[in-house]
Amino acid sequence: MQQGQLFIDGCWVAASSEQTIAVISPINGSEIARIPAATAADVDRAVAAARRAFDGWAATPVAKRAALLKAIQGELKARAGEIASAISQEMGCPIRFAQTVQAGSPIASFGMYARLLGDFAFEETVGNSKVVREPVGVVAAITPWNYPLHQVAAKVAAALAAGCTVVLKPSEIAPLDALILAEAVAAAGLPPGVFNLLTGTGPVVGEALANHPDVDMLSFTGSTRAGQRVSELAAATVKRVALELGGKSAAVVLDDADFAVAIPAVVANCYQNAGQTCTAQTRLLVPESRYSEVAERAVAAAAKFIPADPRLDSTRLGPLASAAQAERVRDYIRVGIAEGAELLTGGVDAPEGLAPELLASGAYVRPTIFGRVRPNSRIAQEEIFGPVLAILTYPDGDEAAAIRLANATPYGLAGGVWAGSDERAEAVARKLRCGQVEINGGPFNLYAPFGGYKQSGNGRELGKYGLEDFLEYKAMQFRPPAKD
Ligand code: NAD
Repeated sequence: MQQGQLFIDGCWVAASSEQTIAVISPINGSEIARIPAATAADVDRAVAAARRAFDGWAATPVAKRAALLKAIQGELKARAGEIASAISQEMGCPIRFAQTVQAGSPIASFGMYARLLGDFAFEETVGNSKVVREPVGVVAAITPWNYPLHQVAAKVAAALAAGCTVVLKPSEIAPLDALILAEAVAAAGLPPGVFNLLTGTGPVVGEALANHPDVDMLSFTGSTRAGQRVSELAAATVKRVALELGGKSAAVVLDDADFAVAIPAVVANCYQNAGQTCTAQTRLLVPESRYSEVAERAVAAAAKFIPADPRLDSTRLGPLASAAQAERVRDYIRVGIAEGAELLTGGVDAPEGLAPELLASGAYVRPTIFGRVRPNSRIAQEEIFGPVLAILTYPDGDEAAAIRLANATPYGLAGGVWAGSDERAEAVARKLRCGQVEINGGPFNLYAPFGGYKQSGNGRELGKYGLEDFLEYKAMQFRPPAKD
């Protein structure tokens, strides 16, 4: 795979600076690649290429755009194993999960947008107006490391489908999968400049993109703090900004739910991808009288997540994405202990049973559960982004209290409701202030809108909703036919 260059205007080119960034695998702390640290001058070059390509791409017939998306999907499919292995190495997720989700989902997204273009209504008539939907223009996409290619594909496939051109800045922590995408784009025959890739840091490349007068839209996924920063910068040129930010999602378990199914499912949801999932249900809300039973079931479920080498097929919990992220999570575990929550399992010590060469990375964290967590405590309010579950209780039979608790954080990305019937769960789900809710463990759907309320962001990705985010409306008013 190309590692030493940027992809601009259809070519692999050197960055304007000699500076590089080491990509460190959290599996064992080894350096697995070096990527160029692009500069503001490289941003100018890439944005100029995207601007030049825009008119042609926007005018490309929808069927041709769909065929090119399908061709990119084919290229990615052919390299699925390589993508999974790159992601597992760069951010540490278990190889099986990397194959099914980390590689599987972006491949599916390119196919989905090729398909959706087949019947998307780009025009409609409203009274004497013809309303057309046009691409917003040059899109800057900035993405994080936790589902690196999935988040890239959610933006890039949708923006290309809409007729936009793209400058992508992937996470500097997990950039290798995006390099494979750039190769796939080139092999699929996308016209030069339609897709451009810059590697580099947030403060240099990300901010230059957010600031750039020739970028029409910024699509950002990452932390709330960086989302606030890019929004401020983008405001100077009144860019459209779409933000997918953090979360502190709640699983609400009602008294008639099947606890034997629900509790292990919530633990698995929370620990998926080592807890580094923005929609992770990290707060488990249960009736007070069921607390002991829930604590016991949750601890038993957590025992099945044994930190291990993510290269093994049997591993369900690998390292966190970096030593820094792991230390941040351990700090939160210390905070939880200091706040007086019950430490039911886990903690800050290094996990047992790992080979010394793996432990040396400093990125492995014990799956942890806190019980009797107070609603206003930091571990109940702040996104930890690691395998740490907080159990909170609500008074028996008081659904309204459970809903208030679920809604009582600054975030509003996702949630889950478990009940004896889907109808009862849905009634509660309708009162949650968040963008998606799993009803009795309903699975993720790429065709449904994905995004958050409140400080979890704005805009929606995936499905036709994601395509709509990259479109402008234009209304053309026609004079009604003259009356005789
Ligand atoms: P991050 O905000 O540090 O980085 C995300 C991206 O933004 C990276 O490419 C980074 O280089 C860039 N960036 C950082 N500072 C920047 C700045 N000042 N200007 C411009 N760009 C900047 O987040 P992360 O640590 O990579 O990812 C974890 C966070 O992402 C978590 O908070 C998680 O909840 C969130 N996330 C949200 C979603 C979602 O869809 N809602 C999905 C995945 C991750």
